Amino acid sequence: FPVERIRNFSIIAHIDHGKSTLADRLLEMTGAIAKTERNKQVLDKLQVERERGITVKAQTASLFYQHDGETYLLNLIDTPGHVDFSYEVSRSISACQGVLLIVDANQGIQAQTVANFYLAFEAQLTIIPVLNKIDLKNADPDRVEKQIEKIFDIPKEECIRISAKLGTNVDQVLQEVVKRIPPPTAKLEEPFKALVFDSTFDHYRGVIANIAVFGGQVCKGDRIVSAHMGKTYEVNELGILRPDERPTEKLYAGQVGYVVAGMKEVKEAQIGDTLYLHKQPVEALPGFKPAKSMVFAGIYPMDQSEYTSLRSAVEKLTLNDSSVTVQRDSSLALGAGWRLGFLGLLHMEVFNQRLDQEYNASVIVTAPTVPYKAVLSSAKLIKEYGEEVVTIVNPAQFPDKSQVVQYLEPMVTGTIITPDDFTGKIISLCLGRRAIQKNMVYIDDHRVMMKYVFPLNEIVVDFYDQLKSMSSGYASFDYEDAGYEPAELIKIDFLLNGRPVEELTTISHGKKINKSYPKKGFIYSSSCLQLCKTGYERQIWQKFKSDNCFRY
Ligand code: GDP
Ligand code: MG
Repeated sequence: FPVERIRNFSIIAHIDHGKSTLADRLLEMTGAIAKTERNKQVLDKLQVERERGITVKAQTASLFYQHDGETYLLNLIDTPGHVDFSYEVSRSISACQGVLLIVDANQGIQAQTVANFYLAFEAQLTIIPVLNKIDLKNADPDRVEKQIEKIFDIPKEECIRISAKLGTNVDQVLQEVVKRIPPPTAKLEEPFKALVFDSTFDHYRGVIANIAVFGGQVCKGDRIVSAHMGKTYEVNELGILRPDERPTEKLYAGQVGYVVAGMKEVKEAQIGDTLYLHKQPVEALPGFKPAKSMVFAGIYPMDQSEYTSLRSAVEKLTLNDSSVTVQRDSSLALGAGWRLGFLGLLHMEVFNQRLDQEYNASVIVTAPTVPYKAVLSSAKLIKEYGEEVVTIVNPAQFPDKSQVVQYLEPMVTGTIITPDDFTGKIISLCLGRRAIQKNMVYIDDHRVMMKYVFPLNEIVVDFYDQLKSMSSGYASFDYEDAGYEPAELIKIDFLLNGRPVEELTTISHGKKINKSYPKKGFIYSSSCLQLCKTGYERQIWQKFKSDNCFRY
């Protein structure tokens, strides 16, 4: 297929603004799927995705579109719909030359719209703003166009107004994709080079890697290398996605498709990695980084007799998600289990929900923790760890203050967009979470965008729910990594009949400790359950109910 007639693009949007609905319409209009109700949201395959309206695993589809008497190949590269997956979003986006930035014409710009815009903007992509849901009675596309001009500096003339639900102006979207988004710059005469932007696991064939070909071509039987893993494989199968797999003989420069090459684990096809031909090595594409876990939690079977079935469920789920890290763990109280690392809170919730829904496993989840760092002072400890700055993912292993020069905690920059009636309440919520305000602007007459730097630890439990409930659901929130900062941290051990219960150990900030916990030495009993601040603590305390007294 001639590169000049290829367009690679993504749809990006705040949750519920209509990304999946528009994707379905585009698939229908180009004949990739039939126009039946049953095909609603074919791109969102998992049950949890349909329920929560988010995309966990991105799906990709190649569409053939007739325009001015020519056939165009439009590759729609779906991206995961949440901030936790922002690295994956940025890798899928880097396989594209343009994006459709969907904004709900009723809700207007929300926190994730802003985050997604910057990912596309920094990748220097063509951005086509699409105002969706103009059929709604309360839609106010004029106001939303003004927001887009003000916040993104995009002239309102560039906005397309559509209703993805009714199909209004959706054809215009495809025309503008062809007109405004440039073709990929990939060259067929160059050596083969492809970006892995997603991967899934299949029991019979192993890993299926979704790739965007940046140069050259690849055929069945070719020997290929994954640049960062440095392993060589033979291509068993390749093809395009429509969105189901259609095997072909070759994939060419500019195309998007899949390869199956005998990889046994999704970790072998890491998102962001580069594939090239064994006989023609090339330099890897820039920007690769391995998935980084930001939230950790212990997972244990409710009953140890369920250990084996839970293990197989955890294995199956992690086979398909290379961004979950797994470590075996065991505790006196809860028995054998795992300590899992997730990209973020939602990622963890989705994982737990899938465990529950797809494998029927009942589990105890310990309170989520974040990776702290400690600069060690004790020579003995430095020798033990083999380094001076250590990352601690399990609070029970937190080194004592006497052995540490300084503790560091992970920080994030949070964006909140809210109607201005709620700003007062939200500001105090943020202050209570040790946040520092960086910026506050009006995006229109009644809506405010605030930027705060938060300790990640302060938002992992309950923050989002509180924000939503105090704003009657109107405030939206998104965050990005902001490195580490020094912090005065204290480890709190809970004692059960005089012995520490590791699962309850938490890390608190010096400033908060007196407010959050009763005096040291306080005896908890089962009647004190209401003192537990989170569902996680409550769950574990329930288990010990019969034991009847806690102390910390
Ligand atoms: P996503 O989270 O961005 O993928 O959003 P969805 O495509 O799942 O849409 C979220 C909700 O908005 C669903 O209930 C859709 O039926 C609805 N929706 C999507 N597009 C339109 C539209 O153009 N008009 C109206 N009225 N509703 C829409
Ligand atoms: Mg969706």
